[in-house]
Amino acid sequence: MSEKKIPKDLTEIPTEVVETDLLIVGGGNAGCFAAIEAKSQDPSLRVTVMEKAHISRSGATAAGMDAINTYIRTDKGETPESLVKWSRAQVGGGPIREDLALSNAQILNESVEMLEDWGLPIVKDEDGHYKLRGRFDISIQGEQLKPIMAEKAMEMGAKVYNRVAATNLLMQDGRCVGAMGFGVRDGRFYVFKAKATIVTTGGACGIYKNYTSDYSGAHHQTWMCPFNVGTGYAMGIRAGAEMTSLEQRWVAVRTKDFSGPVDTLSVGYGCLITNAKGERVLRDRYAHLGGDKAPRFVRLNAPMMEWLEGRGPVYVDTTVLDEEEAKDLREDLLNERPTFVLFLASRGIDITKEPVEIYGSDPYIVGGHTGSGFWVDIKRMTTIPGLFAAGEAAGGSPNKFVGGCAAEGRLAARGAMEYLGSVNTLDVDPQRVSKEKERVFAPLLRGPGFDGITPVEMEERLQRLMDEYAGGISQFYRMNEERLDYALKNVKILQAQTQYLFAKDLHELMNAHEVIDRLDVAELLIHHLKFRKETRWPGWQTRMDYPEPNPELDCFVESRRDPVTGSVEVFTRPYEQLIPGDRTEG
Ligand SMILES: Cc1cc2nc3c(=O)[nH]c(=O)nc-3n(C[C@H](O)[C@H](O)[C@H](O)COP(=O)(O)OP(=O)(O)OC[C@H]3O[C@@H](n4cnc5c(N)ncnc54)[C@H](O)[C@@H]3O)c2cc1C
Repeated sequence: MSEKKIPKDLTEIPTEVVETDLLIVGGGNAGCFAAIEAKSQDPSLRVTVMEKAHISRSGATAAGMDAINTYIRTDKGETPESLVKWSRAQVGGGPIREDLALSNAQILNESVEMLEDWGLPIVKDEDGHYKLRGRFDISIQGEQLKPIMAEKAMEMGAKVYNRVAATNLLMQDGRCVGAMGFGVRDGRFYVFKAKATIVTTGGACGIYKNYTSDYSGAHHQTWMCPFNVGTGYAMGIRAGAEMTSLEQRWVAVRTKDFSGPVDTLSVGYGCLITNAKGERVLRDRYAHLGGDKAPRFVRLNAPMMEWLEGRGPVYVDTTVLDEEEAKDLREDLLNERPTFVLFLASRGIDITKEPVEIYGSDPYIVGGHTGSGFWVDIKRMTTIPGLFAAGEAAGGSPNKFVGGCAAEGRLAARGAMEYLGSVNTLDVDPQRVSKEKERVFAPLLRGPGFDGITPVEMEERLQRLMDEYAGGISQFYRMNEERLDYALKNVKILQAQTQYLFAKDLHELMNAHEVIDRLDVAELLIHHLKFRKETRWPGWQTRMDYPEPNPELDCFVESRRDPVTGSVEVFTRPYEQLIPGDRTEG
């Protein structure tokens, strides 16, 4: 449906109904592995993938990777338990869901090795073991990482609907029985009826403003996949699912003005963080927290403190590299962020002669790095029967990355298959379907002449609001109760104004739903940030009015929005330590 053929009313929009056994919403890293696992367990099972982009190059791994951040080298004495301990320490001792993390770790290596079997080049050391870049971090030549996963899922017989964006879950009698959405190119309305559904839509990007977006015109000059906007979370929130740990935001330290990778330089090549005075920031000021090996939030917050205290700019010192190492580094970057190599070249930067400047990113909500997402049980079922979650969509278990998201996709598929064996497809109330069709296409049917608000305008308002009042980069991630109250009040105003959104084509229709979904995630996120009246992870979550950790909040913060009244309940769940030892040591 082109811009010229905008429908006049709903009757002009075709509806396609698809029946399947297992629906996977999001054909990314975890989604592909879920599809592969389900088809390998039962080739006769109807497995359907709903993918907003094109499965060959979608999601976090779309552009390629130079490393798989989690793999357990057992020959070096590492175990699933030691990986969980490390992960726990990376988030300052938790809380983390050790049950989830451990079950992921137990099938992590075989999940990574599957990728090698399908053709992914994994770098080996002299003994033939996967070459370590960090303690649990292996180097790959991963430009083709995503196509490899996608091809395997299709080869196994998963039916993929590309360029179909999910907009809401299909609910019946309190159960999830599929999902609905629209074709971002064909303009059709899609209804997928399924016995079980797995959400693998990744995290939420673009809730906060990126500091580069003002002048560049690139609205999403950002680290995370800009098309993962939190739709999976939003669909769950609207259906009343319990969400966990949204306040444990992921903020990364990245190369300044470009959002290039820093771990590749610091972990992979030993280029350490220095300030404007040439001081070794982590070694000199954060030795008590682990120095250069301090947890991730410390490594993010430390450079920003240097700025605040007058010792910025901050760099990774690449001048320690010789020509040969610099060439290897550029090759690694070509696997993950090829444009960063061009960026350096265009500025005439010789990294062996001058250091690379770094800075904080905008905050993301993402369960693959930190612990935000759906609360799930050990089988990865959310609190909504029939709805499962994996990868960045599932919360509680941080530091999953490529290998862990793959492993969790497989676990969710196993859980979903067990569940779907005991249920039938339900008849769906046609009114629910027509109501959703009406909601989905409303911005388009309002038409280009409508005196309303464009998705980009609303996104700008949301991002600026969150940046300034809910701890974004312009505020060095700091927030207090009054600012959060202001943010919540204004998010609600924006939510009420979504009825004035209008779209001139299908692309803008997609943008309209993206901002609606971001708003729903932002609302719950602010509730979480307000509830944690303490500072547990400076940088990720800094409360200026409560600067210290509060031992009484050593627990999970949870939320649930009532699907009928819209009221939000925030509560806690206890942290259960399964692996003994000092939680801050990994
Ligand atoms: C730039 C970058 C570099 C990284 N580097 C590394 C690294 O070197 N090593 C490492 O181990 N990890 C790395 N990670 C992390 C890792 O890639 C992710 O944690 C992991 O791949 C996420 O998997 P996922 O399946 O949860 O999400 P994704 O792979 O992002 O999949 C989400 C999918 O859902 C689809 N989707 C979204 N919304 C909708 C919708 N409404 N309807 C239908 N489909 C939808 C998306 O298009 C996408 O295909 C990196 C991440 C990024 C962003």
